[in-house]
Amino acid sequence: FERLRQGLAKTRDSFVGKIDRLVLGKKEIDADTLEELEEILISADIGVNTTVELIRMLEQRLSRNELQDGEALKAALKEEIYARLSRDARPLDITTASPFVIMVIGVNGVGKTTTIGKLAARYSAEGKKVVLAAGDTFRAAAAEQLQIWGERAGVDVVRHREGADPSAVVFDSIKAAQARNADVLIVDTAGRLHTKVNLMEELKKVKRIIGRELPGAPHETLLVLDAATGQNAVSQAKLFKETAEVTGIALTKLDGTARGGIVVAICNEFRIPIRYIGVGEGVDDLRDFDPEQFVEALFY
Ligand code: GDP
Repeated sequence: FERLRQGLAKTRDSFVGKIDRLVLGKKEIDADTLEELEEILISADIGVNTTVELIRMLEQRLSRNELQDGEALKAALKEEIYARLSRDARPLDITTASPFVIMVIGVNGVGKTTTIGKLAARYSAEGKKVVLAAGDTFRAAAAEQLQIWGERAGVDVVRHREGADPSAVVFDSIKAAQARNADVLIVDTAGRLHTKVNLMEELKKVKRIIGRELPGAPHETLLVLDAATGQNAVSQAKLFKETAEVTGIALTKLDGTARGGIVVAICNEFRIPIRYIGVGEGVDDLRDFDPEQFVEALFY
């Protein structure tokens, strides 16, 4: 919790700091207060739709005389945010298939490789047999990074030369996972091709091959988003959701950004479970997303 609390420091300072200044010592809540709150929420990257929804809920509470003072307003906001964060939250259960296949998607730079490395280390530490597939053959550096993470975690990495067909990597990794009786296969994918259409076609192809070799797989299509990019993360979620049947989200780089409000926007607008949050570059800095802890750390 302490690490999470530290990670969210910037978001808390800007977002809850502003709210505190707004509500502190306030004996009466009126429409003006809610208007000011609306501005704070929007500037905190909570997104226009979600902000409008939250303010509407608070207006209803106000009309029912439930918001007596500033403290009550803050408590009500916390409650409304928690309700939205917890609605679809479900940790990823990888015990439902063997090998459980996680296909990881997202644009370059969001923290895809790092997230895969952290996951590999975690599962491996839990005693699970992990295989990684370096499916981003378009970037030599990606496969190299993956290899480094894999070695550190003591897990096998299936890797072909740069420019090789990603489908071949995926095919080989499935065979390797089966031969080694792996519990988890994590497949990295390309994050950038010449066009968005190419990228989406590529991801569909990888998915098709996984499903052909292992019916029912991938069991999880995990989209990695960079919280620090704010509304860009929202646009990426839209794009990938439309084409790639995303079943879970990992939101990275929540540390060091004041844009942590994006978690609320993503949760509320996409109704896709946030599985993990990244709060640092280290191997232990990938956390299960726990709405209660998150809200507590945010409003601490
Ligand atoms: P990829 O291109 O999506 O594979 O991105 P990488 O995994 O290479 O990550 C890009 C950069 O973001 C690296 O410098 C990572 O160390 C950093 N990074 C990834 N996740 C986090 C995080 O949760 N917090 C911080 N502060 N940095 C992160």
